[in-house]
Amino acid sequence: MASTTSRVDLDGNPIKPITICMIGAGGFIGSHLCEKLMSETPHTVLAVDVYNDKIKHLLEPDSLPWAGRIQFHRINIKHDSRLEGLIKMADLTINLAAICTPADYNTRPLDTIYSNFIDALPVVKYCSENNKRLIHFSTCEIYGKTIGSFLPKDHPLRQDPEFYVLKEDVSPCIFGPIEKQRWSYACAKQLIERLIYAEGAENGLEFTIVRPFNWIGPRMDFIPGVDGPSEGVPRVLACFSNNLLRGEPLKLVDGGQSQRTFIYIKDAIEAVMLMIENPARANGQIFNVGNPNNEVTVKQLAEMMTEVYCKVSGEPSLEVPTVDVSSKEFYGEGYDDSDKRIPDMTIINRQLGWNPKTSLWDLLESTLTYQHRTYAEAVKQAIAKPVAS
Ligand code: NAD
Ligand code: UDP
Repeated sequence: MASTTSRVDLDGNPIKPITICMIGAGGFIGSHLCEKLMSETPHTVLAVDVYNDKIKHLLEPDSLPWAGRIQFHRINIKHDSRLEGLIKMADLTINLAAICTPADYNTRPLDTIYSNFIDALPVVKYCSENNKRLIHFSTCEIYGKTIGSFLPKDHPLRQDPEFYVLKEDVSPCIFGPIEKQRWSYACAKQLIERLIYAEGAENGLEFTIVRPFNWIGPRMDFIPGVDGPSEGVPRVLACFSNNLLRGEPLKLVDGGQSQRTFIYIKDAIEAVMLMIENPARANGQIFNVGNPNNEVTVKQLAEMMTEVYCKVSGEPSLEVPTVDVSSKEFYGEGYDDSDKRIPDMTIINRQLGWNPKTSLWDLLESTLTYQHRTYAEAVKQAIAKPVAS
């Protein structure tokens, strides 16, 4: 239960209950943030989304201890005049709404650009005009490729952190050519970051920008053919979970050589909570939120997920657990990739004293236990269904 009396911020000041307009509250990150806000704080959430399946458990029975502190508003922010009113009613707006699955960036570049830039514009404008604080979700993809990726494969400087660690206030944003439409998302996110930053500089907007580095955990995306389209391609956690649930080899795009650092959603949510409740330390900042200690290649991720899944499900491992697939075959024309993503933690450490805790093995164990419990039966039934003739 939320305690309303004893909560203090990082400087020892009491935390007053606030109202938060959370746009995209029905998604993966939004659902975890709502859960945390309801169970551990006295804050109120105006939850805006076109879907609410992932937060239904927080909304339904009136008897829940937080009843009255969360309201769902089914609104598409592209065209709904109610948005400004909700932002005005709130003390803080958190914008999570976006198209953010790589399979869409090169196949639906217009929707991607509109969603990540154009649709976010009124949110920034309403916050600025009404003097409301904004926490905007950007992405680690804003960094694009590392400087080191342009050096020859065996060049010693590739091992130098100066050539690959991604720093909010130092690293450049390096995207591929326009025909590589993969970068439509990163470019749209970069422009909205620049706009928010400029609103801060010229009009005094109080903002915080979050750059998530591969947050993963329960409720991320969907399992194709179960709670999402059969032909849909979610992010890697759900793709590999789907393969494991179906007992088919995990597909390694271009050999799975790209590197990522994965962070457990619950660790990342702690960082967002600190931003919400410590405005004086978070305003005007851009924060990397990731776990630099959890780096693997995508191939290593596939191997670890296979091992963990066998442990939690009791299913035997496949004889051939992975297959290589070309990016063109998997994602289509115009795909490109970030080679390596290690977040620098200096700024978030200095401002909020935050550090991630959970190892990759532990976060996969709890996440795949959830995936198995939630989906194994439904996948079995989907596989058993006779194909319509
Ligand atoms: P998600 O797709 O699960 O959630 C996004 C939510 O926004 C969805 O529920 C969707 O219905 C909603 N939405 C989209 N367009 C909308 C509209 N026009 N009107 C109303 N609602 C709309 O994604 P997520 O993983 O929760 O990501 C949230 C944010 O974090 C996004 O901005 C994303 O770019 C950013 N991000 C996330 C990660 C990660 O690791 N999960 C990494 C980088 C960036
Ligand atoms: N990937 C893969 N197989 C899959 C899905 C993704 O090899 O079934 C790779 C993808 O090419 C990328 C990495 O996994 O290199 C992470 O992909 P994700 O969709 O999670 O998003 P990204 O980190 O690229 O934003």
